[in-house]
Amino acid sequence: MQLLDGKKTSAELKEELRQEVEQRKAQGKKIPHLAAILVGDDGASRTYVNAKVKACEAVGFESTLIRKEADISEEELLKLVHDLNMDPEIDGFIVQLPLPKHIDEDKVTLAVAPEKDVDGFHPENLGRLVLGLPTFVSATPNGIMELLARYNIETSGKDCVVIGRSNIVGTPMSILLSRNSNPGNCTVTLTHSRTKNLAEITRRADIVVAAIGKPEFVKADMIKEGAVVVDVGIHRIDDPSKKSGFSLLGDCDFEAISKKASYITPVPGGVGPMTIASLMANTMKAVKMRE
Ligand code: NAD
Repeated sequence: MQLLDGKKTSAELKEELRQEVEQRKAQGKKIPHLAAILVGDDGASRTYVNAKVKACEAVGFESTLIRKEADISEEELLKLVHDLNMDPEIDGFIVQLPLPKHIDEDKVTLAVAPEKDVDGFHPENLGRLVLGLPTFVSATPNGIMELLARYNIETSGKDCVVIGRSNIVGTPMSILLSRNSNPGNCTVTLTHSRTKNLAEITRRADIVVAAIGKPEFVKADMIKEGAVVVDVGIHRIDDPSKKSGFSLLGDCDFEAISKKASYITPVPGGVGPMTIASLMANTMKAVKMRE
């Protein structure tokens, strides 16, 4: 088994971006500027946003973090999104999800200008993805594709099973892997909560992408010998034996599956860091598109 090392690969990707920023500086070009809106005080969201701000610093981007109380009105938030759309200094921005219940996430996603939608959540960008047109591919699927590409994983003609059909991971992943591109050209089966005999389906797969949101849901007996396994899940589980008081687990039983798989992403250190590096890459793309 070989690890699909997202920590190492994302460091390479970020180093490439850092060098590009240096070149841009030398040429007097604009430094990419990413903004993030964080609403409320959700611990996981705070961690993700902080990691994004830190990544901006590492690659030399400008970053702006806008924190708002959980009781911000939908109208105020939409006004903030509008202001960022109009701000020439900002190249791209994200609104960290989830949002408080009184705010319609779809309305907010639709309000983001597609050319600044570095999360790739706007329907225009998702539509362009489906049509194979240039777009911002949302950070997690984009990061997974980059990881597969950099490890030269053969995908053409392979049977791939994606578990989970969310708009931000499972569905775009199924489209990307079935596209006529490299990586791509897989025969994809998209499975979900109503899928019958899931294990039978996954056992046939050369590539499994697990985005279910349930800790260690995928067991070794669901995986074919030699398969490539991409684990998107991330769960904080109480663990008194750890100094931090918790362990991070994925959607796959890593210990057991790593004995069968040819390649597997670890959790942590797999898809997570690739997601953040991809967001940086999308921001670089945004600044170039605006030029
Ligand atoms: P989601 O909850 O939106 O979607 C989960 C999907 O799993 C649903 O489509 C559902 O149909 C499917 N599902 C549920 N039970 C199932 C079952 N028994 N059999 C088959 N399918 C089943 O989740 P999401 O946003 O796609 O995230 C999935 C996981 O990935 C979560 O743990 C999330 O925290 C993690 N995640 C990680 C990153 C990262 O950067 N590492 C990014 C996004 C999400």
